[in-house]
Amino acid sequence: SKKSLTVLGLGDMGSALVRSWLAVGYAVTVWNRSARPAPEGAVVASTVADAVAANSLVVVCLLDDASVRATLDGIDLTGRDIVNLTTSTPAEARTLSDWIAVRGGRFLDGGIMAVPSMIGVADSGGYVFYSGSAELHETHAEALAVPAGVTYVGADAGFAALYDIALLSAMWGMFAGATHAFALIRAEDISPVEFAPLLVGYQQAMAGYAYGTAAQLASGDYAEGVESNLAMMVTTNGTLLRTAAEQGVSPELLTPFMALMERRVAEGGGKESTTGVVDLLRR
Ligand code: NDP
Repeated sequence: SKKSLTVLGLGDMGSALVRSWLAVGYAVTVWNRSARPAPEGAVVASTVADAVAANSLVVVCLLDDASVRATLDGIDLTGRDIVNLTTSTPAEARTLSDWIAVRGGRFLDGGIMAVPSMIGVADSGGYVFYSGSAELHETHAEALAVPAGVTYVGADAGFAALYDIALLSAMWGMFAGATHAFALIRAEDISPVEFAPLLVGYQQAMAGYAYGTAAQLASGDYAEGVESNLAMMVTTNGTLLRTAAEQGVSPELLTPFMALMERRVAEGGGKESTTGVVDLLRR
């Protein structure tokens, strides 16, 4: 029989997912709350119940957790395999997993680490974190591999969301740093286009710093292998702040992290790297 699945949600991401399955020959049944043009070749269901009844594999890609609940409420999920690709929190994913189990379905949560233009494109670098039912993940391994790479991170339904949000949160830190750097050079006659490769190259070179943080967190020795000690870095922060003042740039993107570095030095962490800040945040 022909491979088939249902997709709920025809937003930018839902539509991209649908197109990727259609492109490799899946029969795809779709549903969207409001009338939207469906990708060519998809079968449009007029109700959620019809869409869910059409296939055992049901992929959900809606705005947020609340919209998933609103959509699936009252629907018979007996024997359904629900794959939720809607961005949510870990706790929301765990609660949804239980909610679906009570209604007779199996549940896999996903966090998409890609934008729609990367979906269904081989070697785009995009992938999806999955967690929850290992059986569901194995049963549908072939279908799940179609839109993007698959990274299964365990049976805890909250882990895909946790990994997803951890990476997104790290991204803001990186964007914040680049934003401040552009602000510093902006007042001068410096081309941002010529500055960009220097900025990107440095950020790429420094990204590996996280491996050192990980090794120290694992060993518990935060002074292990340190070649840039925290006391020195805190002194350098003064130079960063004076430079911001000279250039007429607000330091507000930098100061929260700097304040935490200072607190760790004040607590005796001057010979460490920045790893101890992880513990400060967890208090
Ligand atoms: P869009 O804004 O393009 O689409 C939102 C979808 O959610 C539409 O189908 C909309 O239906 C539906 N919806 C909103 N509220 C409700 C509701 N109360 N009940 C039923 N349906 C509802 O978003 P995307 O497709 O871009 O994103 C979908 C998910 O994918 C999000 O969780 C997002 O975080 C995630 N994602 C998106 C990425 C991206 O780059 N786009 C990247 C990674 C993850 P209607 O047409 O009726 O409004």
